[in-house]
Amino acid sequence: MKLSELQTGQQAVIVHVDGHGSFRKRLIEMGFIQGKTVRVVLNAPLRDPIEYEIIGYKVSLRREEAAQIEVASEEEAREALVTDEHLQGLPQDMDEAQRLTKAMEHLAEERNHVIRVALVGNPNCGKTSLFNIASGSHEHVGNYSGVTVDAKEGKFNFKGYEIVLVDLPGTYSLSAYSPEELYVRKNLIDALPDVIVNVVDASNIERNLYLTTQLIDMNLRVVMALNMYDELQSKGDKLDVEQLGKLLGIPVCPTVSRDGQGIPALFETVIKVYEGAEESLARHIHINHGAELEKSITRLRDILWRDENLRAKYSTRYLAIKYLEGDKEVERMLQGTVIAAELLTVRREETQRIKALVGTNPESAIVDAKYAFIQGALAETYEKYQEERPKRTLTDRIDAIVTNRWLAFPIFVAILYLVFWTTFTVGQYPMDWIEWLMTRLGDWVGSLMREGWFKDLVVDGVIAGVGSVLVFLPNIMILYLFISLMEDSGYMSRAAFIVDKLMHRIGLHGKSFIPMVMGFGCNVPAIMATRSIESRKSRLITLSIIPFMSCAGRLPVFVLIAGAFFPENPALALLGIYFLGVLLAILSAVVMARFVKDDDLPFVMELPPYRVPTAKATWRHTWEKGKQYLQKMATTILICAVVIWALGYFPRNKELIAAKAEKEALATEVPPTLDARIDSLSLVQQENSLIGHLGKGISPALDPLGFDWRMDVGLIAGVGAKELVVSTMGVMYAQSGTTVEEEDDDTRLQSALKGSVSKAAALAFMIFVLLYFPCIATFAAIKNETGSWRWAILCAIYTILVAWLFAFAAYRIGLLIW
Ligand code: GDP
Ligand code: MG
Repeated sequence: MKLSELQTGQQAVIVHVDGHGSFRKRLIEMGFIQGKTVRVVLNAPLRDPIEYEIIGYKVSLRREEAAQIEVASEEEAREALVTDEHLQGLPQDMDEAQRLTKAMEHLAEERNHVIRVALVGNPNCGKTSLFNIASGSHEHVGNYSGVTVDAKEGKFNFKGYEIVLVDLPGTYSLSAYSPEELYVRKNLIDALPDVIVNVVDASNIERNLYLTTQLIDMNLRVVMALNMYDELQSKGDKLDVEQLGKLLGIPVCPTVSRDGQGIPALFETVIKVYEGAEESLARHIHINHGAELEKSITRLRDILWRDENLRAKYSTRYLAIKYLEGDKEVERMLQGTVIAAELLTVRREETQRIKALVGTNPESAIVDAKYAFIQGALAETYEKYQEERPKRTLTDRIDAIVTNRWLAFPIFVAILYLVFWTTFTVGQYPMDWIEWLMTRLGDWVGSLMREGWFKDLVVDGVIAGVGSVLVFLPNIMILYLFISLMEDSGYMSRAAFIVDKLMHRIGLHGKSFIPMVMGFGCNVPAIMATRSIESRKSRLITLSIIPFMSCAGRLPVFVLIAGAFFPENPALALLGIYFLGVLLAILSAVVMARFVKDDDLPFVMELPPYRVPTAKATWRHTWEKGKQYLQKMATTILICAVVIWALGYFPRNKELIAAKAEKEALATEVPPTLDARIDSLSLVQQENSLIGHLGKGISPALDPLGFDWRMDVGLIAGVGAKELVVSTMGVMYAQSGTTVEEEDDDTRLQSALKGSVSKAAALAFMIFVLLYFPCIATFAAIKNETGSWRWAILCAIYTILVAWLFAFAAYRIGLLIW
């Protein structure tokens, strides 16, 4: 009997809860567990929800939800007391109520030991053979499709359970196209078997797994019978059965249903899954359909979730996928609901968006994504014997080269080299233009404004500050353009695949790789990109080590210092710095892997077919990544630039103001003594400004590294954004010493630096800038993505410590050498 059928005041004992995974989980958490007594507080015919009392609590359930709970009622117990011989022996002194309760509990226990199992699989995968051998019946077995036209039921006892086995018609998929498909789907949802055995033909695994992906979407309890395992073995293919099960979240049991091998183990697993004994055995995974489709699915799912009746009966994610596919049956079912109109509009919008971006309708995009998932899962677990078999598709042929054992890494490194080389050489041109433009803009705006603090704020604070950041935009956009191209073409998934093994050694995952490369552009979007990593542990570690990937904002510091102090070979110095960053990232990952709790959930890296990226999609993906950089610039960096400017500007030096005013008044011939006086007064102004005091304040901590206090000020500015380090130092050093007019700003700063610190200190400075506290925007990104201030603060402290130690070591060693 179903819980919903009970009348007000009646009691019953719970047998079990049907339904899809998340629904069942919720009800079990509410206390609806086998053997517990439930009482109906109020069940009026037209009333929804119904009110129940269970383990002393009142809860209300929707009628639809209560219909999924199987119970043993008083009525049934009364009958059983007469008929069931087990219950005849109840002690005489028991009163009627106690007897009834006992009888209900007995019934519940007994019924709970009945497991309804449905066999689902492609035609000809051996379902009927499995059915026959397990249930001892003699259904007709045939080596052609369509033998089983409707469901056959068989029963057998196994390890104290009665197993009711249903042999369903063979289907390739669960769409609503053929009567068989619809029949199977209806059966899975309405008849609700306790466990589904997905029979898979191991000799034709790729195609068979397609149906499996749909079962995964439905979030049902599934065990896979990897049938015809004998054929797989005789062909000499190799399959990592356990790993495949882990990746799919479904326990996989090899079987040979022709002679019964593996069948007992299969049903043992069925019982385990039914009892929910091993969480690790069966878990619900989400097949990743790619960022764009997932957005559409989530949008639809959120709407579907609002309908409580739907939520109880179906996995809303499954419905969303089916509805997006344009499934006629699901459409019909949703027609009457309140959300129908909204769903329709959203689907229309999403369909258009997907068509524009991917170039296909959602239905085929979903099919592609599912096959990409299957490809990825098999690439990790399956090895075909005949490697030299002619490659059929273009994707196969490309893969044969780029994932080849010997060629994969050289090709991969060559591509990365090309990407970085192009980024920085091509990026140089727009960089120069922007610099030129910003200088002109500053001059022009300056010429329009009156002398005074406001003009200084606009010209030296805002325009110069923003300009110093804007110049990196081309670099970053070019890098992201390449990354988007690699992603959209399908190469990036292969790259992730190639480095996966290596990454595992340091506790990370192949998918960590893309965010790390993005980190060379700007850490902020890189940290956001870690969202694609399913494993919490890998994700946490990845985003924590990204700050060691030297972002474009740090580059000018390195260029400046390498040029000044290592003129023999600046490129080598630069390379060494980048390398040090990567090395420390790896070391940190290894260390963190020991401390972060392991959730060790493997997941599939999808391998989509290669495709020529469309201009539109590539542009959008590039823009989405670049936008995050622009946002950071428009907010954090702008504010920081102004704050730093103000810190250096106040308190103002009266004499300097007077001297400048004097110079202005003279207009024509300015005596050199006045210029010299302005210079020296500016120096005093800088030293006595707030930031000067700050720099001097922290300098005791940094003195062991050999830095000058003006460099310390640069470092403080770098907390706002690394892009501000050079420009701030430029201001700090601007007035000091020799000013040869022809020299540009950089060389002037370089000679000033050379005059103030040693080569060893310069090296230490580079290392410090590389490693220390990522900028505020990165800090905020870490905080947002982890949802934890603590983690972000920990990262900041950690990087500062590491930076200090390494800079100190470099300084000491440097002093010994030079
Ligand atoms: P169904 O369409 O899924 O019901 O598949 P059948 O049970 O009718 O089996 C189809 C064919 O596969 C029959 O010829 C079976 O003898 C054969 N078969 C079933 N299981 C196995 C197996 O484990 N190994 C091998 N080699 N053949 C099998
Ligand atoms: Mg059959």
